[in-house]
Amino acid sequence: MKKIIIAVDGFSSCGKSTMAKALARSVGYLYFDSGAMYRAVALFCLENGLVQGETIAVEELREKMPQIRITFEADPETKNSITFLNGKNVESEIRSLRVSRIVSQVAALDFVRTDMIAQQREMGKAKGIVMDGRDIGTTVFPDAEMKVFVTASAEVRAQRRYDELTARGDNPNFQEILENVLQRDHIDQTREVSPLRKADDAILLDNSNMTREEQQEWLCEKFKEITAE
Ligand code: C5P
Repeated sequence: MKKIIIAVDGFSSCGKSTMAKALARSVGYLYFDSGAMYRAVALFCLENGLVQGETIAVEELREKMPQIRITFEADPETKNSITFLNGKNVESEIRSLRVSRIVSQVAALDFVRTDMIAQQREMGKAKGIVMDGRDIGTTVFPDAEMKVFVTASAEVRAQRRYDELTARGDNPNFQEILENVLQRDHIDQTREVSPLRKADDAILLDNSNMTREEQQEWLCEKFKEITAE
C-alpha cells in the first residue's frame, strides 16, 4: 500500500493530537506534534530570561535559535511521543499554562517558523507520518495526500483542556483557559506568516458532538479510501 502524509490542522484544544496519535497507531505511521515544537521554543524563552511579562525578546531569541534542538522519542511503555528540548524531557512542562500564554506569540515569529518548518519537512521525507498543527496542510506539506481540518466550539475545547489539566493534578481555572483558547485562536488566525486556515482540499471535521470512537472510525474510513486510489 502506498505511504502517504496525513496533515491534521485545526484550532487549539480540539483533540487534534489525541486523534492524530490514535490514527497513526492504527495505520502504523509515525506521529509528530508540531505544536510541541513551538511550545518547546516558548519554554526555552521562559528558561533563558527571554520573556518580560508577556513580551518576547525577539532579537535575543533570533540569536539563540541555533542553540535550540528539539527531538522526539517514543515512550517505551505507552509508545506516546515525548518531546525533548536540548536533551531534556519537557513533555509535561510544555503543556503548562505559562507556556500556553506565550506560545502563539513565539509561533508568529517568521524566523521561528522557518526553522521549525524545515525540521518538519525533514520528518516527512519518507512519508508514512501523521503530523498535527495549524499550517501542516497549507504550508508544511501542501501536497499531503490526506488533510483534515478539525474544529469544535471554544467552550467544548476549553472544557477538554480543563479536564486534561485537572487529570494531571493541576488546579486550573476554566475562565482563564477559555480566554487563552480564544486568544490563541485570534493570534493564530490573524498572524502574517502562515495563519491558521483550512486548506481548500482539507476535509472538515467538527467533533463537538462526536465520540472519540466515532471520530476514529470516520478517519480510518477516509484513510482507506485515499490509500486505495
Ligand atoms: O497544538 P498546540 O495547541 O499544542 O500548539 C501550541 C501553539 O503553537 C498554537 O497555539 C499555535 O500558536 C502554535 N502552532 C503553530 N503552528 C503549528 C502548530 C502549533 O503556530 N503547526
